[in-house]
Amino acid sequence: MWAWLRHWIGRLPTLPYVDNDGWIHGDGVELYPSKRGTPLTTPRGEPLAIIWHYTATAPGTAKSLAERITGLPVGDERSVSWHLLIGVDGVIRQSLPLTWGGWHCSAGRIDGYRVNKCTIGIELEGYGDRSPTAQVDAARHMMRLVHLRYGIARSRLALGHRDYDPDRRDDPGDLWQPILTQLAESVAPLRSV
Ligand SMILES: [Zn+2]
Repeated sequence: MWAWLRHWIGRLPTLPYVDNDGWIHGDGVELYPSKRGTPLTTPRGEPLAIIWHYTATAPGTAKSLAERITGLPVGDERSVSWHLLIGVDGVIRQSLPLTWGGWHCSAGRIDGYRVNKCTIGIELEGYGDRSPTAQVDAARHMMRLVHLRYGIARSRLALGHRDYDPDRRDDPGDLWQPILTQLAESVAPLRSV
């Protein structure tokens, strides 16, 4: 009986959690620390929203993209960075702590802050034309995690790059936007204290 119990407890996945520095730990999450960002200056230094993107690269490129911005010096190339990259296989690769701003959406403001200075940028591997179950599940987990950790309102969990830069950007695209909106609506509302 107890050997059986120990066996199964040992097989339980580690649920992802966010540490005090804004890094996510747990099964299915890999860290690729980058210096391409700056600490948030929002109240409590916490993010106010999620901005969703797609990478516009082929499936299978997520790891090399994450490795690339880890190795690049600050300000090099096009100075792009993001917090999380979710692969088509559901693997989550984190490049910036969630308490930092990155360089993923240069237009727009939220609560008076530039979008890059107050949001979490999440990239979906691919062209936005496919939504594999593993990728949707990982998106749901990250949305819930961020909602619980930072109390971000559900209306701010599914914002897209195109909401802030519609003339130049379409991501996360017509397939993913309704999926993300539905995921945000399904996140359990926080209990008011
Ligand atoms: Zn984008």
